[in-house]
Amino acid sequence: MAGRFAPSPSGDLHLGNLRTAILAWLFARADGRPFLLRVEDLDRQRSRAEFEASQLADLAALGLDWDGPVVRQSERDPLYAAALERLTAAGLTFECFCTRREIAEAVSAPHGPPGSYPGTCRDLTESEREARRAERSPAIRLRARERTWTIRDELHGEIEGHVDDLVLRRGDGAHAYNLAVVVDDADQDVDQVVRGDDLLDAAPAQAYLTHELGAPEPAYAHVPLALNADGRRLAKRDGDVTLRDLSPEHAWDLIGTSLGVAARSPEALLAELDPREISREPWIVTF
Ligand code: GLU
Repeated sequence: MAGRFAPSPSGDLHLGNLRTAILAWLFARADGRPFLLRVEDLDRQRSRAEFEASQLADLAALGLDWDGPVVRQSERDPLYAAALERLTAAGLTFECFCTRREIAEAVSAPHGPPGSYPGTCRDLTESEREARRAERSPAIRLRARERTWTIRDELHGEIEGHVDDLVLRRGDGAHAYNLAVVVDDADQDVDQVVRGDDLLDAAPAQAYLTHELGAPEPAYAHVPLALNADGRRLAKRDGDVTLRDLSPEHAWDLIGTSLGVAARSPEALLAELDPREISREPWIVTF
């Protein structure tokens, strides 16, 4: 068993990300779990080595520690390819030739929420697929068959959600986040996924995929996001929100206050706070 924090190295961690990291650490350590760090650098265009370095340095500056080597998704492609092969062998994938625009313009799935895959390529015949392959290389999607799936979340209870026909591999051959995150958590024995509330909607499909890959489903804890005074997700333009502008002490002060605790270090927090008791409301960061 293990917990983890899995940042994407596409920018500096802001106060909301730092608070999520602290809570992920706390959830793991409160139960005596190892705590792993995984760099989610699948998106080659947006990921930068210098952001990875500054993110890890920032976590260390807050006093967080982690176990084992840091894992990078960019180095784990064979693992994702093998999982995709297993899903395909089980009849759980299909080739999709749709462009983004075609999907946006299609009438969305009758049972799915807005934006879900309309099913255009789900039932193409072999000869139709053959003809389309000459035009473009297909994405590979999960054949989810319009199902729902229920997850257990430490903060939100049981949450049922629609499982979309997720893209597992893009047309350009890149494995998708939704596949990688599930394969990695299973491979790393992660049984506790702590991350921001923005990923709550993605969790039922990820748990379903985990199930189909034959791995135990993790418990989730989707923690509140940090918002600015306008109710929008905190961003760099909101002011001094990263450790480029704030000292670690100042960041701890803001985060400790937001959690209603006197603790200003990981160890003190571990002694003071049960992470299951935190507020479920967003953290409105004011300056
Ligand atoms: N890499 C994702 C992010 O930074 C988090 C994915 C996860 O924790 O499952 O938003």
